[in-house]
Amino acid sequence: MSYHCWFECIRGCGRRYSIYDVVYRCEDCGGLLDVEHDLEALKDRSPAEWKQLFEQRTRTNQWPYGSGVWGKKEWVCPQVENENVVSMYEGHTNCFWAERLGKEIGVPDLWVKLCGNSHTGSFKDLGMTVLVSVVKQMMADGKPIRAVACASTGDTSAALAAYAAAAGIPAVILLPRGKVSTAQLVQPIANGALVLALDTDFDGCMRIVQELTTDPTIYLANSMNSLRMEGQKTVGIEIVQQFDWEVPDWIIIPVGNLGNVSALGKGLLMMRELGLIDKLPRIACAQAERANPLYLSYLTGFQEYRPVKAQKTLASAIQIGDPVSYERAVKVLRAFEGIVEQASEDELANAAARADRTGMYCCPHTGVALAVLFKLVERGQIKPSDRVVVISTAHGLKFTNFKVGYHDQNLDEVISRHANPPLELRADYSAVSEAINRAFGY
Ligand SMILES: *Cc1c(COP(=O)(O)O)cnc(C)c1O
Ligand SMILES: [Zn+2]
Repeated sequence: MSYHCWFECIRGCGRRYSIYDVVYRCEDCGGLLDVEHDLEALKDRSPAEWKQLFEQRTRTNQWPYGSGVWGKKEWVCPQVENENVVSMYEGHTNCFWAERLGKEIGVPDLWVKLCGNSHTGSFKDLGMTVLVSVVKQMMADGKPIRAVACASTGDTSAALAAYAAAAGIPAVILLPRGKVSTAQLVQPIANGALVLALDTDFDGCMRIVQELTTDPTIYLANSMNSLRMEGQKTVGIEIVQQFDWEVPDWIIIPVGNLGNVSALGKGLLMMRELGLIDKLPRIACAQAERANPLYLSYLTGFQEYRPVKAQKTLASAIQIGDPVSYERAVKVLRAFEGIVEQASEDELANAAARADRTGMYCCPHTGVALAVLFKLVERGQIKPSDRVVVISTAHGLKFTNFKVGYHDQNLDEVISRHANPPLELRADYSAVSEAINRAFGY
């Protein structure tokens, strides 16, 4: 059976392109392009057969199907030849029962999908494997591509640099100077990318990379390019698969450029279309109060949308004022009875720290999602019997300065309610034993 996908204008004007065309917007109406699949062809397998196929490939080593993304290749990007797939076996991240935290807040069926347990430490790997594979295929077919390029708040560049290096393709990275964590900055440096730190914010980098990539030999790797969404959409499919094909009640996701929530929705809608599920979860988007254009638009029922100037936030990967995938995300929120909530710096930092006390190690963006979870539970919008999945988007170890600042109690606008600084003591038995007694109240 020949499965097939293509680019199609999201505004419904009908314009289509090959996924091997170097094009990021509809040339008729300026709309973004989505990847669409021949769903009729995909209906040649029954829902049970798809489930069985996906299960059978999970964690096998049959190239490239052991990857969480490429194990669903027919749904993601069927045309790419297996020999051109660039994969580091991303996906299949753990979705674990956050038992203690859930019980503390009165929602015992709470789960965390740890997308940061991945090759470069964030969910961005899921999309980048697809985009870089398509570029490798294009180059193998003789397209004159010199490099891949992206603007980034840190994690996109880490993923692009790693996958491009794995494929032997040059990468150009545009970062807002001083606005990404040290770990995020050093990742593309280590992978040999050309790293350009610019005196602007993410939105400023985004404008320049869009201009740069009007040159068709420099291929755009931002999520405006919907190939990334094809990989990222597996996160929703994987969550359902991890619950033995049961759909949770809520999925909470931190959002910035709005590519990931659009992808989450896309994967779940595809599952419903192909009969693997018959209901949808509700989706809650979590924004940082200091970069909240989606939240403000939500308050108007999505009647109005105004880009904002994103303010500095600890949740640096979502410090975005003019999200590229706004239209896509609104469609998803409408289909999933979605809601949008925001979190202040104090709320996100304390939410992350509170969860850390139950054994997690949350990045600030996961802190935003958890703070929103706490609000929705308090407000009764999430019920005690609901099954809730929080998407953790990056590994906490990428954000050491955030953690250190919190426990040193020197983050702006944050009162560290769970600070746990080390006690510095004389190297002396009685000092140590006294400290233990004091700490545990013996
Ligand atoms: C990219 C990113 C996000 C936001 O995803 P969008 O697709 O931009 O909405 C959230 N958290 C982390 C850690 C990220 O790297
Ligand atoms: Zn169009």
